[in-house]
Parts: sequence; C-alpha cells; structure tokens
Amino acid sequence: MHAMRKAKIIATLGPASQSEETLRRLILAGMNVARLNFSHGTHEDHAVLIAMIRRLSAELDLPVAILQDLQGPKVRVGDLPRPLMLKVGAEVTLYPEGHPRPASAGLLIPVCFEEMFEAVRPGDALLLDDGRLRLRVESSEEHAVVARVEVGGPLSSHKGINLPGVRLRIAAFTEKDEADLAFGLAHGIDAVAVSFVRSVEDVLKVRTAMKRMGYNNSQKRAPMVIAKIEKPEILDDFNRLLEVVDGVMIARGDLGVEMPPEKVPVLQKKIIQQANAHAKLVITATQMLESMVSNPLPTRAEASDVANAIFDGADAVMLSGETAAGQYPVEAVAMMSRIVVEAETHYVEWGKPRSFDGLGDSDAAAMARAAYEIARDRDVAAIAVFTVQGRTAQLISKTHPNVPILAFTPQEDTYRRLSFLWGVMPRLVPFASTVEEMLFHVETAILKDNMVRPGQQVALVCGFPVGALRPPNMALLHTVGQESRRVQA
Ligand code: PEP
Repeated sequence: MHAMRKAKIIATLGPASQSEETLRRLILAGMNVARLNFSHGTHEDHAVLIAMIRRLSAELDLPVAILQDLQGPKVRVGDLPRPLMLKVGAEVTLYPEGHPRPASAGLLIPVCFEEMFEAVRPGDALLLDDGRLRLRVESSEEHAVVARVEVGGPLSSHKGINLPGVRLRIAAFTEKDEADLAFGLAHGIDAVAVSFVRSVEDVLKVRTAMKRMGYNNSQKRAPMVIAKIEKPEILDDFNRLLEVVDGVMIARGDLGVEMPPEKVPVLQKKIIQQANAHAKLVITATQMLESMVSNPLPTRAEASDVANAIFDGADAVMLSGETAAGQYPVEAVAMMSRIVVEAETHYVEWGKPRSFDGLGDSDAAAMARAAYEIARDRDVAAIAVFTVQGRTAQLISKTHPNVPILAFTPQEDTYRRLSFLWGVMPRLVPFASTVEEMLFHVETAILKDNMVRPGQQVALVCGFPVGALRPPNMALLHTVGQESRRVQA
C-alpha cells in the first residue's frame, strides 16, 4: 500500500512505540520518518532507539529517516508532588523551580523557565496544557506571578505553558538544544526541527552551531533544518525564513495556542502554498488522528483533516501522541496511509494545482521541469533520477508528477533523506559510471518491484558525463527492456 502513497508519514516515537516489535510494525505499516522528541527521554534512550531504527530499516530494506525535534524554549510546569485541580476563580502563584516557594495561601505552581518572570505583565494570559487551562496574570514580581484561574481543570507536572503575545528574552536555540544537537549529529540524524522559531536568526544560530561542530562539508554533511511554525511572529518574515531552511513544519499544537485556533486552517493553507512556491519541504503536524490515542478508528473529521492536508499540497503528515503514547500506534500509521492514498487518487479533482515558479532557474530546476513534461507527454510509468545530494529529486518531487519518482543514489545519507520527499521512492545503488550501468539499476529496481512492465517507458534524469558527478543535465526516455533513446542533452 505505501509503495503507492506519495505523501510521507512522520511518526513520533515514545513509550507506545519503542519496542522492537512495534517499531518493525510501524515501518511495515508505512512510517517513512521517525521523529524523536527531545523534550523527553535521555540521550541513552535516544541512542538505543536510533540504533534500533537503523537496524530494522536495513533488515526490512525500507528507508527510514530520523528527525530530531529540539525542545526549544518551551516554558513548562515543573515537578508537582501530585496533580493539582485548578478551580475557576482560584488564585495561583507561579514561581521559578529551584527558588524558595513563595509564601501564599493559594496553589503553588513551579515553572521551569525563569525568563518568564521578567516578561509577563498584569493582564497577560497564561495558557497551560495546550491551552486547556487559562490563567490571567494579576501581579508579577521577579520570582512570583500571581494569577487567577479563568478556565480550570487538572494540572500535572511538565505540562506546557504558552504566553501568547509575550516576548521572552530567551534564544530559540537553548543550551540544552545545543547539547542535544551535538548528540544528534554524532548519531547521524537526518533532519533537525527547530522549535519556537521567532526570527530567521534563530535558524541561522542552529546552522552556525552545526558548522562549529564540523558539519558543513562533504565528509560531514549537515542534516536538513526544519523550522517549526508555532509562533505567529515568524510569519512576518516568512519568505526570508524559507530561504534559510530546508523545510517547515506547521506545528498546529502550539500554533493553535499562540493564536486563536480558528486562524490555524487558513494559515496552514498559506504556509503550504508559500513553502511549495519556494520548493521547500512542508509538513502538517499535530492532532491529525488524535482520537486514535484511545480509539482504533479516527473521527470522520480527522480523516477529513488528513485528506485536506494532502489536497493543500503537504509533502508529509505527522503523528505525535497517536504513535508516541497512544494505544493504537500501528493502526494510526496504517489508517493515515489509507486516507492519504485515497486522497491522492482524487488529487487532480480536489488538490491544489502545481506551479513551477518556485523551482528557480538552475540546471537542476530545468531538468525537473523537463522530467515532469516528458512524464506527462509520453505517459511514462515512472521518473527515475540519479542524485547525489537529493536536490534534483526534491525539485522533481515539487512538480508533483502523477507517477512515482525513483531516486537512485549511492549515498546512504541521501537515501535516508529522500524518505521525506513527496512521491519519491529511494533506492540505494552502487556508484554508476556509465549510462548503461544507470539503466541497469533502473530496470532491476522497477522490474523487481513489478512497478513497470517491459515495453513501458521511464523518464531518466541524470548528470553527464555520468561518473563525473555533474549536476543533472540530461534526460532520457527509456523503454523498459529495450535500448534507450536520448531525447534531450
Ligand atoms: C506542535 O506544537 O504542534 C508540535 C509539533 O510541537 P511539540 O510536539 O514539540 O509541542
């Protein structure tokens, strides 16, 4: 089933999905990218998971990319000895964890980010636990904020606190993030997600840190950088952001707390449109099949949400709690895969038409357009591309051809990264030094997978001379089982 699917599935790993058996079933059900959430778990836990993913991916011969999601400056409730019940109208006092508890007759809530205390002002709203609880600040001092409960409910340790409209004087890339990134780089992660990005500089800091750690050359290639869109202010500089990232994630959980939830659907469409117009990866995330945390089937509204993300033009859709902590992690991936495949069957009628504007004017962009046109005009069964870094495959992916894109690469890191790309089926092959060798790889792959019958045509894009690792400059129209016919050079 997932061989037919074009959009990719990212599944967050957690207590519900860390056993070898569940992980194997998640990969078989269609997980293309495993997301490791660095808000939780120790480096030892993550190292075990990374090794397990790599081992299972090799054993099953199915590529799986690893996305490291950095915690960022997430304000959280500290350790509570026991859950609290916040009643509407009650007074609560928040204080920095580790500081002496303030004298107060009301409920006390420790907070793990001291910077919050200098930033909040009377009248500000504090939203706790993904916005389920709301407090209104009445007074604010250096080490104590007194607030009134407006929307109540139970509160347990480590729940998130959002402060819509409040500017925290803390960098998006924290000391913990830097240590986590160093760990991720050393363990060969394929992409890193930067949380709570408020400015282009927040992302540039991560790129600079990678360089400082020695990851910006052909020996040590830096992972892809994905900005999580969860703070509305970054949208003011969105085009510039798109120039410095490899992709964006619409992190609807925090975004829908930082701004009114009714604003999120239109914003989602705009973000996807703009990312596609810059030929950047775009992921729709959070609560896509939320009810599957505790139910074997999604709500009809959730099925619609996944399908609409596909019609909007997302490259990938993401599961969070469903696979990290839910009762039905494998079922959630399988269900998401079925919904995506069904939506893609109807993409021509309901999906957003593609424009080539964002591809740019490089040789690779011209070849991506050529591949798309040849595929359409000659009714080919597949597009094949030989790619070293994956860039040409990404550009072809962004043209949204209606046939599979077989991306061949001799590089293992590229092979894994290709798992993020819409419509791309990655294939790891030995280095090819002639066109004949390339065609041999193409034929072997497509006949093995029964994707194409002898006599059908495939459009092949590659660099020529082949062994010289040139950027793409040649397209071939190849009839499977016959001699090739060059149509453009
Ligand atoms: C989100 O807020 O939607 C999100 C993906 O981020 P996190 O899960 O890290 O809160």
